Amino acid sequence: MDLCQLTIHQAAELLRRREVSSVELTRAVLDRIEKVDSRVRAFVTITEDMALEQAKEADRRISDGTAALLTGIPAAIKDNMCTRGIRTTCSSRMLENFVPPYDATVVERLHAAGMVMVGKTNMDEFAMGSSNEHSAFFPTYNPWDLSRVPGGSSGGSAVSVATDATIYAIGSDTGGSIRQPAGFCSVVGLKPTYGRVSRYGLVAFASSLDQIGPLTKDVTDCALVMNVIAGHDSRDSTSLPYPVPDYTESLVPDLKGVRLGVPKEYFVEGMQPEVAQAIRSATVVLEELGATVDWDVSLPHTRYGLAAYYIIAPSEASANLARYDGVKYGFSVKEAENMWDAMEKTKGNGFGPEVKRRIMLGTYALSAGYYDAYYLKALRVRTLIRREFEEALKTVDALVTPTSPTVPFKIGEKLDDPIQMYLSDVCTLPINIAGVPGISVPAGFADGLPIGMQIIGRPLGEEVLLRVAYAYEQATDWHKRKPPL
Ligand code: GLN
Repeated sequence: MDLCQLTIHQAAELLRRREVSSVELTRAVLDRIEKVDSRVRAFVTITEDMALEQAKEADRRISDGTAALLTGIPAAIKDNMCTRGIRTTCSSRMLENFVPPYDATVVERLHAAGMVMVGKTNMDEFAMGSSNEHSAFFPTYNPWDLSRVPGGSSGGSAVSVATDATIYAIGSDTGGSIRQPAGFCSVVGLKPTYGRVSRYGLVAFASSLDQIGPLTKDVTDCALVMNVIAGHDSRDSTSLPYPVPDYTESLVPDLKGVRLGVPKEYFVEGMQPEVAQAIRSATVVLEELGATVDWDVSLPHTRYGLAAYYIIAPSEASANLARYDGVKYGFSVKEAENMWDAMEKTKGNGFGPEVKRRIMLGTYALSAGYYDAYYLKALRVRTLIRREFEEALKTVDALVTPTSPTVPFKIGEKLDDPIQMYLSDVCTLPINIAGVPGISVPAGFADGLPIGMQIIGRPLGEEVLLRVAYAYEQATDWHKRKPPL
């Protein structure tokens, strides 16, 4: 087997037994990037020299017995997480040359664990999008069919994992940005409970919804990464002060006593029949593993999730993105008549069309006279949605839904129709609104294109999600298929 195809747990075992070195593993991954990235374009920046340095250091740690489990294992980081000394662009002209002076907490923790960072991955500009077509630089392509999108906004991270151009990756998820590309690329992607992973150093999109999480080749790897990145951080006031369990303890191969529910509202109108069928078949497997499946669970307010999200997220974005005024950092137009003119030109040229659309939507929803009608109302809907999840998750331990209503769509197909693009997140958005955790696992294919299954849990219920996901993975082999690249 090619070294780049290893999972974290396989690679860690070989490193521990000194059968391969981190330098060899890192070289294999860098070679793979060299081979496939011109076709899929998952990376904005490849940090080859730094990776090899870190690999050497990791080999030292391994030989002197101070290594952690992730030590020496290559990873890719979405380009909206600050990396000290390494360009962090958010795939935007606005931050094209921004080199942060500090690491995001997640990056810092991974470095402390001995990460070898191979690069920063492409995304929709400022994480606004579902296809990676909104990157200001270039789109990323789906390795299962290069004429299709990989999903977004963490499309580069998902593709890097799916193509073995990294062993694992980190993404962020505001309305589906980890789970939807994970589903579209047939990898595992977890959006943790809001507050479980620190957002310090994550470039803010919608602060009350943003959450960082892993994209991995299997569920065991997802648990291993969570063990490192989860936990309280005093630099993020929304981070939860609760102890972090050992997530690998949830990885048991049966589901005896686990109660699952399938909310009917998630089989939305217009859903591709193959997707609905794949999830129905998956529930049969889950039952065979010992779980009970309740088909009468209902979350009626789900239908307002999309509308509430597209008020709340743009409102927060309009406030968060006000800082890009060309004064402190980032792109700056100097040739201007006065300060206002400079700001207008900076924002006008620095932001792409989708970001501008969000800023305008948000500014409108927050403006005097509309605030109550839109923003406040959306917050009320948010409370209803959150309560509804709370109620539903009293009678079942987790909910099972499709991750997306369709398989990956064609590049360009939804680009001129924002509403169609927004609809591709109907199944993932409510989970961010409720603040609960959700994971996407490979659950089938339709005409060679991946289908993801989403499992949703209670706040801090990641262990249940991992248990269900792991048992399902052990009973199926969707996750073993590789794209024909
Ligand atoms: N696709 C959604 C949006 O465009 C969610 C993006 C995300 O999760 N970052 O807002």
